[in-house]
Amino acid sequence: MGRQDNKESLVRAAMEAVDRAAFVADEWKWAAGEDRPLPIGFGQTVSQPYTVARMLELLGQGEKVLEVGTGSGWQTAVLARLFKQVYSIEKIPELAKRARIKIYELGIKNVRIKIGDGKKGWDKYALYDGIIVAADAQEIPPKLLEQLADGGRMVIPVRGEMLKIEKHGNFVFVPLV
Ligand code: SAH
Repeated sequence: MGRQDNKESLVRAAMEAVDRAAFVADEWKWAAGEDRPLPIGFGQTVSQPYTVARMLELLGQGEKVLEVGTGSGWQTAVLARLFKQVYSIEKIPELAKRARIKIYELGIKNVRIKIGDGKKGWDKYALYDGIIVAADAQEIPPKLLEQLADGGRMVIPVRGEMLKIEKHGNFVFVPLV
């Protein structure tokens, strides 16, 4: 089995172990198995499974991961199976609170969720081996780049393009003019 197959199967197993229906309202549970985003209130959606699978394969595994955009907490619960400790930031307080309750009810212990602007990251627990952003960014937030460990990966959609950024330490250069 190649490295890529292995990554895919790890992500697939983690996704299969988490019931997406548990993270959507009753009226959407029938559609939870479909490969599309679903409404979770406040104008937000739970991400499409295909997209999450691709992003998680790019992200890989590790000790600490920072998630920006907790939403329903579904992807958070999947991350909890791929990383030792998950830190997640959500800007809509009601979504963050619901996700916290859901994660608690499911008995998941290695997740912390905070309410705030994810573009600033979560300094307290940096550096992160992985950073995953669930909403489209205008540019790469500098604070997130700062909080990425050497050898860490950040997966982030920027203006509709999915980027994977790998950090390889600090070097001194003359400025690019
Ligand atoms: N992956 C989530 C869905 C994410 S939808 C799930 O599985 O349910 C994107 C989420 O990002 C929304 O909940 C939105 O409120 C949140 N968001 C958008 N901008 C944000 C920001 N600057 N900081 C934190 N959260 C943000």
